[in-house]
Amino acid sequence: MARIAKNSIEAVVAAADMLDIVGQHTQLKKAGANYMGRCPFHEERTASFSVNPAEKLYYCFGCGEGGDLLGFVQKKDNLDFAAAVETLADRYGVSLEYEEAGPGDADRKRRDRLRKLLEQACTYYERVLWEARGGAGARRATRRPGRAGRGGGW
Ligand code: ZN
Repeated sequence: MARIAKNSIEAVVAAADMLDIVGQHTQLKKAGANYMGRCPFHEERTASFSVNPAEKLYYCFGCGEGGDLLGFVQKKDNLDFAAAVETLADRYGVSLEYEEAGPGDADRKRRDRLRKLLEQACTYYERVLWEARGGAGARRATRRPGRAGRGGGW
């Protein structure tokens, strides 16, 4: 599957205006370096929603909702990551480059699968050690009360 090139994502974030985006959902007032407004994620009477236009970050002191520009668009417009990037690219006239999923992806997938298998094996042996009858000897050796922690009993 093609995905959006990293430098295109960065170009979109750079072109987008955080105050413009958030301003569609709530009215913002300047407060020092940041802007404050009523939170678009929960009902409130006082403004506890803070926007940092330079870093393009937002945080609500009322409900704890927070994140970056793309996170805001995803949550507020109910979009996945790629759709959020595409929406913003459209709005700010940034043309996106896509890259094909390379062979590196298959490698990563295989590694992930192997790691999961190892975790399963690890869980299995842990259970054998602590629960199975055959692990009793090992359990006694490991759980000797009082003597543990002196250079290890291994
Ligand atoms: Zn909130």
